Amino acid sequence: MKLEVKCNVEDCKYWDEGDQCIADSIYVIGHHGGREAEKVEETACKTFEKRK
Ligand code: SF4
Repeated sequence: MKLEVKCNVEDCKYWDEGDQCIADSIYVIGHHGGREAEKVEETACKTFEKRK
Protein backbone atom coordinates (compact mmCIF):
# COMPACT_ATOMS: atom_id res chain seq x y z
CA MET A 1 0.00 0.00 0.00
CA LYS A 2 1.35 3.39 -1.00
CA LEU A 3 1.74 5.94 1.76
CA GLU A 4 -0.46 8.98 1.20
CA VAL A 5 1.54 12.20 1.29
CA LYS A 6 -0.39 15.47 1.53
CA CYS A 7 1.46 18.63 0.51
CA ASN A 8 0.46 22.21 -0.28
CA VAL A 9 3.49 23.19 -2.39
CA GLU A 10 1.54 23.76 -5.60
CA ASP A 11 4.51 24.67 -7.78
CA CYS A 12 6.27 21.34 -7.21
CA LYS A 13 6.09 19.05 -10.26
CA TYR A 14 4.92 16.19 -8.01
CA TRP A 15 1.97 18.14 -6.62
CA ASP A 16 -1.55 17.22 -7.82
CA GLU A 17 -5.13 18.30 -7.16
CA GLY A 18 -6.34 17.78 -3.61
CA ASP A 19 -2.89 18.47 -2.15
CA GLN A 20 -1.68 15.02 -3.25
CA CYS A 21 2.03 14.29 -3.65
CA ILE A 22 2.35 11.86 -6.58
CA ALA A 23 6.06 11.12 -6.22
CA ASP A 24 6.91 7.42 -5.77
CA SER A 25 8.82 8.38 -2.63
CA ILE A 26 9.97 11.54 -0.92
CA TYR A 27 13.12 12.38 1.00
CA VAL A 28 12.78 14.71 3.96
CA ILE A 29 15.87 16.36 5.36
CA GLY A 30 16.75 18.54 8.32
CA HIS A 31 16.46 22.16 7.29
CA HIS A 32 19.87 23.13 8.64
CA GLY A 33 21.77 20.46 6.74
CA GLY A 34 22.08 18.17 9.73
CA ARG A 35 20.13 15.02 10.59
CA GLU A 36 18.10 16.48 13.42
CA ALA A 37 15.20 18.91 13.90
CA GLU A 38 13.50 20.43 16.92
CA LYS A 39 10.26 21.47 15.23
CA VAL A 40 8.33 21.02 12.01
CA GLU A 41 9.73 24.19 10.43
CA GLU A 42 13.18 22.61 10.52
CA THR A 43 12.24 19.81 8.12
CA ALA A 44 12.10 20.10 4.33
CA CYS A 45 11.25 17.94 1.32
CA LYS A 46 14.37 17.38 -0.77
CA THR A 47 12.35 15.68 -3.53
CA PHE A 48 10.80 19.04 -4.48
CA GLU A 49 11.33 20.06 -8.11
CA LYS A 50 10.03 23.35 -9.43
CA ARG A 51 7.22 22.86 -11.97
CA LYS A 52 8.32 24.30 -15.33
S1 SF4 B 1 7.84 16.06 -3.70
FE1 SF4 B 1 7.79 17.13 -1.72
S2 SF4 B 1 7.35 19.27 -2.20
FE2 SF4 B 1 6.83 18.03 -4.00
S3 SF4 B 1 4.62 17.58 -3.79
FE3 SF4 B 1 5.77 15.86 -2.88
S4 SF4 B 1 5.94 16.37 -0.69
FE4 SF4 B 1 5.40 18.26 -1.79
